[in-house]
Amino acid sequence: MTVYFMDGQFVEKKHVAISIDDRGYYFGDGVYEVIKVYDGELFTSKEHIARLFESAAKIKLVIPYTEAQLLDIAQQLVISNSISVGHVYMQVTRGVSPRIHQFPDPAVSPMVTAYALSSARPVEVMENGVKVKSVVDFRWLRCDIKSLNLLANVMAKQEAVEAGCKEAVFVRDGFVTEGASTNMFGVKNGILYTHPANNLILNGITRQVVLRLSRELGIAVVEEPFTLEAAFAMDELFMTSTTLEVMPIIQLDDKTIGSGRPGEVTVQLQKAFTLQIPTVVAGS
Ligand SMILES: *Cc1c(COP(=O)(O)O)cnc(C)c1O
Repeated sequence: MTVYFMDGQFVEKKHVAISIDDRGYYFGDGVYEVIKVYDGELFTSKEHIARLFESAAKIKLVIPYTEAQLLDIAQQLVISNSISVGHVYMQVTRGVSPRIHQFPDPAVSPMVTAYALSSARPVEVMENGVKVKSVVDFRWLRCDIKSLNLLANVMAKQEAVEAGCKEAVFVRDGFVTEGASTNMFGVKNGILYTHPANNLILNGITRQVVLRLSRELGIAVVEEPFTLEAAFAMDELFMTSTTLEVMPIIQLDDKTIGSGRPGEVTVQLQKAFTLQIPTVVAGS
């Protein structure tokens, strides 16, 4: 039996029913998080839940729970669905109300839904690396909000997948911002480059873990935008996300990156990242 959380209750999946008037459905008017589960334990859950509250505040949405309550809901979903390795998805919309663009007045209570699913770590691709495709970053100017409005990301990812690639690399005014659902990193002469955490990217929790690990390992970090041309010339490229962890990139468009194999710094950071997660699932 699969247990979901919906509007204050744990219910069987087959009993989950969301109204057509949910503002998430009409407008993507809501925010979400994906939290990884390793060996039945939520990974960096406090950071994810804190970011959910930050995203909600940025769209003037008040979540009707405390951070501790949401963490408890996530943990209960992991337990009741017997998740060992997987992820928890949580979303909060502005609620259910007849379709008008402005916020409902009087306000309705936000709709909180969540579930936990088993999902394997992408170990094979993590070892060999993936191809990515550059696409124009035609998103809005509040990419710092993890909002449900993902149409531009969906279009970009589809374009990448149709080209046989794992991810789309957004390029705004010639500069690499991030991926459709990942953050982008480059390594040149031993220095790690990534776009600064401003309104043009989503500041990934995995990004933040990787930046901390880099500093601990003594890898120089430069949080500055780099151009697509500079990306082609990087010694190494990789991307990060909750589900992809530290994912090596071996080809960008028609250009091979470095040797065409996952780079030295990338592998070093992958290993350091793996040390952060429970050894039973991390393997050797
Ligand atoms: C979620 C997301 C990321 C990655 O964030 P993590 O917290 O590391 O999973 C990067 N970019 C976008 C656009 C995202 O939505």
